[in-house]
Amino acid sequence: MTIKDFIRNNPNSLVALAYNFAFNAHLGQKRKSGEPYFNHCVAVADILLSWNMDDETLAAGLLHDVLEDTKTTQEQIKKNFGEQILFLVDGVSKLGKIKYRGIKQKAENMRKFIFALSTDLRVIFIKLADRLHNMRTLNFLSKDKQKRIALETDEIYAPIAYRLGMQSLSGELQDLAFPYIYPDEYKWLIKNVKEKYETRTSYLKKIVPILKEALIKNNIKVLNLDFRAKRWSSLYKKLLLYDMDIEKIYDLVALRIIVPEIPDCYAALGIVHELWPPLPGRIKDYIAMPKPNGYKSLHTTVIGPNDKKIEIQIRTKEMHEENEFGIAAHWIYKYKKYAKNLGGVKLEKELDWIKQLNEWQNKKQNDDSSFDFLKYLKIDFFKDRIFVLTPKGDVLDLPNGSTPVDFAYHIHSEVGNSCVGAKVNDKIVPLNYKLKSGDIVEILTQKNKKPSEDWLSFVCTSIAKDHIKSALKQKNNFKNLPSKTEIRIVALSNKELIKNISSIILRSHFNILSFKTEDVYSKSYQINRIEIDSTNKEKIEKLILKLKDNLKDIKEISYKII
Ligand code: MN
Repeated sequence: MTIKDFIRNNPNSLVALAYNFAFNAHLGQKRKSGEPYFNHCVAVADILLSWNMDDETLAAGLLHDVLEDTKTTQEQIKKNFGEQILFLVDGVSKLGKIKYRGIKQKAENMRKFIFALSTDLRVIFIKLADRLHNMRTLNFLSKDKQKRIALETDEIYAPIAYRLGMQSLSGELQDLAFPYIYPDEYKWLIKNVKEKYETRTSYLKKIVPILKEALIKNNIKVLNLDFRAKRWSSLYKKLLLYDMDIEKIYDLVALRIIVPEIPDCYAALGIVHELWPPLPGRIKDYIAMPKPNGYKSLHTTVIGPNDKKIEIQIRTKEMHEENEFGIAAHWIYKYKKYAKNLGGVKLEKELDWIKQLNEWQNKKQNDDSSFDFLKYLKIDFFKDRIFVLTPKGDVLDLPNGSTPVDFAYHIHSEVGNSCVGAKVNDKIVPLNYKLKSGDIVEILTQKNKKPSEDWLSFVCTSIAKDHIKSALKQKNNFKNLPSKTEIRIVALSNKELIKNISSIILRSHFNILSFKTEDVYSKSYQINRIEIDSTNKEKIEKLILKLKDNLKDIKEISYKII
């Protein structure tokens, strides 16, 4: 069924309304391929429909580009389709702002960011459908864009699909990206493997009737019997392990038998082995012992007619679907590997989340209303972190409560030190503004600016605190802003006065920077101006007391910090 069929059957549905709305919004716009832009929206909705997504997701899929690429406002979407759909469309638009340019260390950050931003999983499903269609039509873009988008797909979106258990989507995305990222390797594969694919496939085609007949004769219901050609991208990885020797890759093309029940799997395996002798050590029972990622199937390699080796995979329909589109089971395994860096608490939360996903997945088989569960499934395992973007689309991972100043210091200490203001999503904000996931943060700087002491009252990362403190220290040591104090003493003229004042000051561990004296009232009084090297009020006041107590005939004593 296509989205057009869906609308024909449900002409008054939300999906039909979204279809017309998106059609009008994109009217006149063309894609790089020259076809109407709206075709892309329909293609995305078709993909979502093939994944059995709910009506709201289908409608949001049709509308996913209207905020970004047309004059449509958030208000209009809210008014016509409600808050839920606005949330989904807005979420997908936000994801569109992230750009990945191939720095491996940043990939994990970015995947986390995407999950954190997509508090509703359906946002990710729409984004994946969008990416799948864009990859299928990537040849129309410029070389530069092709490379960047293919890399982003391979390192960000394919792993996300994999983590959600969408194995075949993940594989398709990698395969679509492969020729753009590794053009030479791809050419090599085409040249060296294509013919092998074809000869193997035509060989297997001859074998299928023999196998089918044997299975039916033994009362095994065969639901499906087809070929599975190994994907380019995974074939290439395997070839690297086998000295690029294609003869060693038995599963270049595999036969796949789908049967109704688990006992049928073992019965079918026995029949296969009666037909052709199995290769020792190549029988794998992933039903009794599923792969760590949850994969279930029986595998065997047999020596077929003309001594050719054939890999045969046997599984139930249920296993097949789970392997292709199961959810998250693999994730636990993969996650444990780098969970050490994440700390136990977070991992617990993630596992809970995966448990929920699995429950949903199990429920889905016999309960149609379970899509409600998906709707309310919120991802909150990165609650204590926020993920924000630079204007270029790089992702920064900061603790909750971070401000633009924290952001600035995480970019570079110089950016922090010279920060004078900040824009968040194009609007000026105060420097103590609390950033939220998805914010695009731009720091305004001015040369030779220094951090201000009150930043310390609102920054929350230690990197920012440390840099501010050390910059303030430097400022006090080397800059001439309040750095000395003038003490003024009026007293009766006295030969010992200068000596006495000096010794009291020096004994209190101050340095005298200058000492000026003038006589007044025909020399009966003298005014002394002494500059010392401190601005510490508390210490200076103690000094003043000492001077008052120890000097004779004082008329007046005062100080000012200059
Ligand atoms: Mn799009």
